[in-house]
Amino acid sequence: MKALTIRNLKKVYANGLVAVKGIDLDVEEGDFFALLGPNGAGKSTLISIVSSLVNASSGDVRIFDADLKRDKQLAKSYLGLVPQEVNFNQFETTRNIVMNQAGYYGLSRKEAVKRTEHCLKLMHLWEHRDTVSRRLSGGMKRRVMIARAMVHQPKLLILDEPTAGVDIEIRRSMWETMKQVNEQGTTIILTTHYLEEAESLCRNIAIINQGEIVENTAMQSLLSRLNEEHFVCDVKQSLTTISKIPGYKIELLNAMQLSISVPKAQGLNPLFKGLSEQQIEVLSLKNGSNRLEQLFLGLIDADKNKLSIN
Ligand code: ADP
Repeated sequence: MKALTIRNLKKVYANGLVAVKGIDLDVEEGDFFALLGPNGAGKSTLISIVSSLVNASSGDVRIFDADLKRDKQLAKSYLGLVPQEVNFNQFETTRNIVMNQAGYYGLSRKEAVKRTEHCLKLMHLWEHRDTVSRRLSGGMKRRVMIARAMVHQPKLLILDEPTAGVDIEIRRSMWETMKQVNEQGTTIILTTHYLEEAESLCRNIAIINQGEIVENTAMQSLLSRLNEEHFVCDVKQSLTTISKIPGYKIELLNAMQLSISVPKAQGLNPLFKGLSEQQIEVLSLKNGSNRLEQLFLGLIDADKNKLSIN
């Protein structure tokens, strides 16, 4: 089953800004899914719509079997949201923060007590249950946010840049926590502008830029494409087909031009040998960049220092 189905989703803000431009997106149940993009790409708008915090201008959103327009309460009950900023009352105890959220979702007192204990233990916060939350460390506060989002047993957990601005130690411990939650069966969508974070955690990824999904693929396939080099090769004679050369991806761009992809560490001698065996004479070989590299370069320009390739 799909945990999330989005069809032709648009958001035009009151000032006329089109933040989401007709997005389609599917996330499978059980997935750990990354939504990656630079600042201003539309990530927060998209998840605010999915979380019913912002109304879409048009389009459809379905969370598991619940349509967000027709069955809003059910859809909301399936979802847990961990927002970017710590937004609980810092004068309350850890336990009360989570208990209050259980009350908000209408859990009985008995159930709320049980779920609160479970979530605090899962987040390694049980020994801090009676601590006033402002005394907790930054990493612990973030874990309180996850415990709170999980108290009503959401099937889909959305984390909005959970590690933005936290130090590397907290980031790594958050990664472990998120992995554990996912392994226990909760579907996770993570927004981030760190490719490294998506790489460590996620199986699938969508890249959003200027309100559009510009890439939606398996993490592995994205990484292997980032690790390829691309060349454009001019040849002397006119070609209609080309035979395979092991280790290289070769396509005819036109009768006298080839596109060649090769893993970064691999040499080119076998390529030339293979071409000459086919009586193909090479006139020139230029570095070509693929769409994905251009995309990442564009994203990096848009948001320097935030996105990193490799
Ligand atoms: P991201 O989360 O990827 O950084 P956002 O969804 O926050 O992107 O923003 C997408 C675009 O929408 C940006 O250009 C932003 O300035 C604009 N935007 C966000 N919220 C509002 C709003 N309430 N009114 C008008 N424009 C907004």
